[in-house]
Amino acid sequence: MNRLEFFHTGLAILGMSLFETDNSMKTDPKLLIGKGSPKLVGKNYALLAEADKAFQEMSAAAQKQGIVIKMVSSYRSFEKQKSIWNRKFSMFKSHGMSDLDAVAKIIEYSTLPGTSRHHWGTDIDIIDAGPAQEGDFLLAQKFHGNGPYNTLREWMEIHAQDYDFQLPYTKDEKRSGFKYEPWHYSYAPISIPMLRQYLDLDHKELIFTTDLMGGAVLDHGFLESYIKSHVLGINPSLL
Ligand SMILES: [Zn+2]
Repeated sequence: MNRLEFFHTGLAILGMSLFETDNSMKTDPKLLIGKGSPKLVGKNYALLAEADKAFQEMSAAAQKQGIVIKMVSSYRSFEKQKSIWNRKFSMFKSHGMSDLDAVAKIIEYSTLPGTSRHHWGTDIDIIDAGPAQEGDFLLAQKFHGNGPYNTLREWMEIHAQDYDFQLPYTKDEKRSGFKYEPWHYSYAPISIPMLRQYLDLDHKELIFTTDLMGGAVLDHGFLESYIKSHVLGINPSLL
């Protein structure tokens, strides 16, 4: 091997190893749409180990201030999201709504299966386990004023970022898509690269290969605008 060949072989090896390193950092596309089998940890919830480690540290810090963070939602599969979607669609239809209105109502708070941040094992819905609780947990007014979770919200607004958790669905009125969700936090170091990779997937396949209710409304045009308004209608620090 002459020096030039040696140089080229070296480049090829380097190229190969770079490629492999890059590949290993990528998430299996199936995991991004809730159809894989991610390695998750947690007793009464399920998160990626790195996100859980940060969550545990954040919880311990909150506990020192008398706030017991309780996770009410974490990883959710495509199938689970589909059952939520279909249940809500049936319910809104039974109230006499058109397909379009029912879908519009669902996507105030719930995602199209295959597009949920809860598919990633990085996103959580939390409440304060301390205060006595009746009815629905996840209502914005419970996180403000005299609501039972006001203290938790205030603490999270100051400290969550120290543990790399961010609110995707902020109160910012210029934000499009899902309504304000003071309970939903995302572990940014993993969810940001996941979102970037997710945007490169062929989303259209997700919709047309499943038995989702509201199918006639869920065409390519809907999906395109939904991705712009909802998937991307988040806190800019998570983009
Ligand atoms: Zn959520």
